[in-house]
Amino acid sequence: MKTRIGIIGAGPSGLAQLRAFDSLEKEGKEIPEIVCFEKQSDWGGLWNYTWRTGVGKYGEPTHGSMYKYLWSNGPKECLEFSDYSFDEHFGKPISSYPPRPVLFDYIQGRVKKSGVRKHIRFNTAARWVSFDEDTQKFTLIVDDLVNNKTYTEIFDYLVVATGHFSTPNMPYFQGLEDFPGAVMHAHDFRGADQFKGQNVLLVGSSYSAEDIGIQCYKHGANSVTLSYRSNPIGLSWPEGVKEVPLLENFDGEIAHFSDGSQERFDAVIMCTGYQHKFPFLPDEMRLKTPNCLYPDNLYKGVVFNELPKLIYLGMQDQYYTFNMFDAQAWVARDIMLGKLKVPEKDERLADMEKWLQKSHSNKTHDDEIDFQTDYVKELIGMTDYPEFDLDTVASLFKKWLKDKEDDILRYRDKTFKSVMTGTMAENHHTEWLDEMDDSFERYFSESSAPEKNPEKEVLMQR
Ligand SMILES: Cc1cc2nc3c(=O)[nH]c(=O)nc-3n(C[C@H](O)[C@H](O)[C@H](O)COP(=O)(O)OP(=O)(O)OC[C@H]3O[C@@H](n4cnc5c(N)ncnc54)[C@H](O)[C@@H]3O)c2cc1C
Repeated sequence: MKTRIGIIGAGPSGLAQLRAFDSLEKEGKEIPEIVCFEKQSDWGGLWNYTWRTGVGKYGEPTHGSMYKYLWSNGPKECLEFSDYSFDEHFGKPISSYPPRPVLFDYIQGRVKKSGVRKHIRFNTAARWVSFDEDTQKFTLIVDDLVNNKTYTEIFDYLVVATGHFSTPNMPYFQGLEDFPGAVMHAHDFRGADQFKGQNVLLVGSSYSAEDIGIQCYKHGANSVTLSYRSNPIGLSWPEGVKEVPLLENFDGEIAHFSDGSQERFDAVIMCTGYQHKFPFLPDEMRLKTPNCLYPDNLYKGVVFNELPKLIYLGMQDQYYTFNMFDAQAWVARDIMLGKLKVPEKDERLADMEKWLQKSHSNKTHDDEIDFQTDYVKELIGMTDYPEFDLDTVASLFKKWLKDKEDDILRYRDKTFKSVMTGTMAENHHTEWLDEMDDSFERYFSESSAPEKNPEKEVLMQR
């Protein structure tokens, strides 16, 4: 009987797993039987934009957390697949910070070419998993959402690739229930235009707060205030954007902060992070971790220590994304094929402990970049995933951080050189601050007639 592998989620991580097996099949090797279950109607995970908040068509919690006007938040040269370059996909150089539809197109290019879609059952949500110690097999219960049918499948290995930027951490502040304006989590933010002319309060100091803050600025919010718990983001913000300490409570539309200051707001957006949430997994199989660079209990960041036939992909906090998911998926593939041996528990524990200790000594963002670079390097060294110059990628990440510090409104106008192909990125025809249209068509339009952002003009004159 063929080994059966179940994959839950067809976002970039799940697709990386499918691609890892496909690369072997292309070499004429026999691969296990693979079934991937995706609760959305299409692949791409978060990159498959939805206008929906709350629930999807079939009443499932909406997975998407991306929004209109979302542009890559890091240089594309840092996330490039090493077996499928931007040059191969687009046939010409493009800018370093493309908008979401352009990156979505790139992600899809590789999997369309490889024909892995046949393995995916869309509109199918994983409901419950159990593991039989005697047979050493997983039972996975899924819901076919379109036909309203529940059924069961048996697998030898299970890969959980359901992402961890979908279930919000939603805090409470006293008086919030009487706040008269919109209150939402970043997960439900679908575009800054609804906040035009408003005074917006963002709670949190994460990437979400930073990016949603400048989106609101760009699209004409009257003011943007970011409230931090322990440390401010600390960038030099444009006029109209500021950071204040911790929010304490609301009195109607007035927010009170821990330094005694107070201010009136029209809307509140909680940029307070996400939970690793696996409602389809029993306690003993569930990864329990905060968002960090090295979640405990995952050997090599992928193998669940208590049950090594259970694999998790993409559970780390992410500087690296697509090529790190690849590195993980290739390791997972070789483990599932028995090409890579998973050592005994003691050895796994010692290895995880080494990485955990190392992660605890990270002090700066540069340390974190070096840490994740070393991690990806180690994984790539274990398989035949095409090697690339990770030290240069690390230096691109550090340059990106510096660019943001220098000018948060213009860092997306910078260009970088691909470590995969040596191609230098093009300047986009319009500066990011003036580019109000994030569509694929506008991005590739020949028109380089940049329109001035009218909202920016107003803000600059204040
Ligand atoms: C607002 C935002 C902006 C971002 N911007 C960038 C960026 O600019 N560049 C970058 O590289 N990364 C960015 N990221 C990081 C992002 O996490 C990764 O790029 C990537 O999407 C992670 O892939 P994934 O497959 O691990 O998870 P996801 O993309 O979350 O995909 C998980 C998939 O699992 C499916 N799923 C979940 N539960 C079930 C279930 N029970 N049954 C069946 N299917 C299920 C979901 O529907 C989804 O398709 C951003 C993240 C957010 C939230």
